Amino acid sequence: MTDGGYKSMNIMLQFYVIAVIFTTIIVSSIVQIETKEPDMNAIRAEISCRCGKVKIAIDSPSALRFVCYCKDCRGYYNTLNSLALKNNIPEAAKLDAFGGVDVTQIYPREIKILEGRDHLETCLIRDKSPYHRTYCKSCYTPLYSIGQGTGAALLNSALLPEKSQTNEVQYRIIGRQALKGDGSSKKPSMSWSVPLGWFFTMPKRVGNKCGVDPEPSKSIEGKELKILEGFTEG
Ligand SMILES: [Zn+2]
Ligand SMILES: [Zn+2]
Repeated sequence: MTDGGYKSMNIMLQFYVIAVIFTTIIVSSIVQIETKEPDMNAIRAEISCRCGKVKIAIDSPSALRFVCYCKDCRGYYNTLNSLALKNNIPEAAKLDAFGGVDVTQIYPREIKILEGRDHLETCLIRDKSPYHRTYCKSCYTPLYSIGQGTGAALLNSALLPEKSQTNEVQYRIIGRQALKGDGSSKKPSMSWSVPLGWFFTMPKRVGNKCGVDPEPSKSIEGKELKILEGFTEG
């Protein structure tokens, strides 16, 4: 056999070994994901913003709770807090020790505005942002954000009374943008980006498009959404 023949055999062998390793990693991670069924318990609750002018009923058969550490979510909460301070009212947007935003993912249809529709403000954090973020304009409490095209509504988990929130945090996403923290609490394990397991959970919710309409913020349709005043990334 020529040198060239040995070389190409060697390369083929290397390819084979790499392929086997990759397949093993992928198969074992899928098996792990499939055997770990996430908590997606029902949520039935009445919630309100801090000032009490907005009252909302939540009725969701399966909700997914996660924490997002991205600069956009944090910047949005920080901006609402600084608007509150500017108006001499207490901060109402709660971040965790590492700058994470705790949300519970449901469908827009599972949010029903009971009172205070006039106090709702829906904004964008920047031009063409895919998230329509709704807060109470009297007390700057973040309420929910609706991802255009994803069908998901991200409800501010902090608004849920303790007894109606039986879901543990399932994912901690975009951990690469998390803050360092002040050392007083241990940093939980976070995923660098959106974890693979997410895509196995999503068909349960996003696959069902009938839950998307009507959006609770239909009254804002046809109106140009404002960019949030003074928004800065967190
Ligand atoms: Zn309010
Ligand atoms: Zn985020």
